[in-house]
Amino acid sequence: MTIYLKDACYIDWKSLKFRQGHMAVTSEDNGKITFTDTLPSKNTLSKDEIILDCQNRLVMKSFACGHHHIYSALARGMPAPEKIPENFSETLKYIWWRLDRLLDMEMIKASALVTALYCLKNGVTFVIDHHSSPFTIENSLETIADAFEEMGISHLLCYEMSDRDGEIPKEKGLEETERYLEKGYQGHVGLHASFTVGDDLLKRAVALAEKYDTGLHVHVAEDAVDQDHCMKTYNKRVVQRYDDAGVLDLHKSILSHCIHLDEDEIARIRDSDVWVAQNTESNLNNNVGVTSYKTFGENVLLGTDGMHSDMLRSANAVFLTGQSVEGIDMGTAYDRFRNVHRYLKGSRYAGDGTDNLVILDYDSPTEINEENFLGHFIYGMEARHVESVISSGRLVVHNKRLLTADEDEILAFAREMGNKLWAKMK
Ligand SMILES: [Zn+2]
Repeated sequence: MTIYLKDACYIDWKSLKFRQGHMAVTSEDNGKITFTDTLPSKNTLSKDEIILDCQNRLVMKSFACGHHHIYSALARGMPAPEKIPENFSETLKYIWWRLDRLLDMEMIKASALVTALYCLKNGVTFVIDHHSSPFTIENSLETIADAFEEMGISHLLCYEMSDRDGEIPKEKGLEETERYLEKGYQGHVGLHASFTVGDDLLKRAVALAEKYDTGLHVHVAEDAVDQDHCMKTYNKRVVQRYDDAGVLDLHKSILSHCIHLDEDEIARIRDSDVWVAQNTESNLNNNVGVTSYKTFGENVLLGTDGMHSDMLRSANAVFLTGQSVEGIDMGTAYDRFRNVHRYLKGSRYAGDGTDNLVILDYDSPTEINEENFLGHFIYGMEARHVESVISSGRLVVHNKRLLTADEDEILAFAREMGNKLWAKMK
């Protein structure tokens, strides 16, 4: 398959250099983009070739989400909890753990499909997900993988294991993780958080990650409750606990949030090769606090924590909030937005090659150029500018419509599953 982009303005995501001309995107040779002076004429095009007119359009690498939760996709507008949460522990107890315990396989499929739909329409072609459905664990990861692949999303999935629902879900989580990795899928070993994970589970999770040459994906000190529990139970802080267990030696690990850390914990992370996922909007929403990531080193990437699937919006929130919290500049916000690509490449995960592109109909009132790109990125670019999307050399969104499935059918299926879930909640 070759997609020709006619008269494109290509922006290199690393150098921010602009290049004007025709491009060819091919799915061969691990996905390649080339610049070309000539295009085939329309009547000589084969079935496997198309030409997209990109005049006045910007073309750049598509986006990726470093921490998502498809399981929360059917939460929007759901019935109010029996008690309005007053703190983070109650938010988990009355909202998220109430929801994820009721998910069945159909609901998981709908959640994955609708998440993929939103991601693609927002220009996101790679998702790192952290999934939870404690009473429908078996085959949940393959269900998500199938839905993502059908839609055209590349992925790095895991099941978020914990001890919160007792022995059976714990063992099933370990089985599901191993089955998935054994089949050859790229994935993480997922854990919920220190305060819901006992020593036996932590030890077995690290052993699984070592066996399959991957990392752990875990929430770290999202709220102070994680630290309080760790000190009380293990007489050490959360990052020290993970360090002692070997998590920080696994360079593919992603520690999500990392808000309530002391200097020793930050230094341990900085001295390791693990990555930290920042989820600013979720932290604001849960009122768990915000922190500076400047002292963490370079390995900070961005996620949405399941709140939405719009990475441009996440980058914007990181910049706006980060100004008072850590004196962030536009370049740092942009680097964090793009760091997920560096993480995936450095960890040798597939699906985020150069043949992943977004075509933006960016209707700026002012000139955009190499010198002022960051100002446009922060103050101008929005998901609504995403016109077409190429995922692993495949055109998946064209003129703002999904090509890989029927959008209306997916939304109808999601609403049906949402109603089924909500009826169980009452
Ligand atoms: Zn999360």
